[in-house]
Amino acid sequence: MFKVFICLCFISTAFAQRLPSPQGFYSKGTILFAQQLPLEGEGFMRLFVHRDRGFGSLEMLNLIKRAALEMNLRYPMRDRMQLGDIAQMKGGQISRHNSHQNGLDADIAYFRVNGMEQLPDVFDGFNEDMVINGKISENFDFERNWELMKTLHRYGKVQRIFVDEVVKREVCHHAISIGEHDEHVEVLRSLRPFDNHKHHMHVRIRCPDTAKKCVAQEETPAGSGCELL
Ligand SMILES: [Zn+2]
Repeated sequence: MFKVFICLCFISTAFAQRLPSPQGFYSKGTILFAQQLPLEGEGFMRLFVHRDRGFGSLEMLNLIKRAALEMNLRYPMRDRMQLGDIAQMKGGQISRHNSHQNGLDADIAYFRVNGMEQLPDVFDGFNEDMVINGKISENFDFERNWELMKTLHRYGKVQRIFVDEVVKREVCHHAISIGEHDEHVEVLRSLRPFDNHKHHMHVRIRCPDTAKKCVAQEETPAGSGCELL
C-alpha cells in the first residue's frame, strides 16, 4: 500500500510539474509537455518562426541556451546562433523532415565569416549554402563552427551532429591542422555526413534518463571517421 502511495505521488508530481517527456524515436515519436524556445535570447535567435516549431525537451532547450551564451561570451558582438526547426508542440511528423519528432533534434545555421544573420521570418529555409560545387564556401567560419561543435559536446548529451560530407571532411582537416584531432575525437566522431546539410548542422541529443518511453539510437562507430575522408 505504501509503495502504491509513493508511486502515485511520483506520477502526480511529474504531471503537476508538466516536465517535457520525449516519447518514441527521433523519426517516429512525440513529446509530452514540450517547452518552447523564446524567439530570441542571449546569443541566439529563431528562424522560420511562422512554422511554430520551436518546441523541445528541457535538455535540448537548455543545451541551446547554454551553448549560445558561451559562444556569445567568447565571440561578443558577433552574429547569433540561428535556430531552425526543433519540433512542433506535441511532436510528431512535420514537413521537410523525417526526424524532429520527439524534441531531441534541432537545426542550427553554420556561422558565417561575414556575420550575416537572416531575417527570422522572411525566408522559408536557410538562405546560404556553405558547400558550393563540392567545395566549402569561403564564408564558412571554421573557427566558430568548430568551437560551437565542441561547446555543444561539453554537456555530454549530444550523440550526433549531421552535416554535409564536405563539411565533415573540411572540419576534420581544420581540427588536424590546429592539432585538436586527438583531443576531440568524440566531437569528430559525432559528425555524420548526411544530404541536405549544406547550410545547417542538425544536432541530436540522447534520450534523457527520465524519459522511459524514449527509444535510443545506436552509438556511432568508434573513431573520428576523419581517416575515411
Ligand atoms: Zn534537422
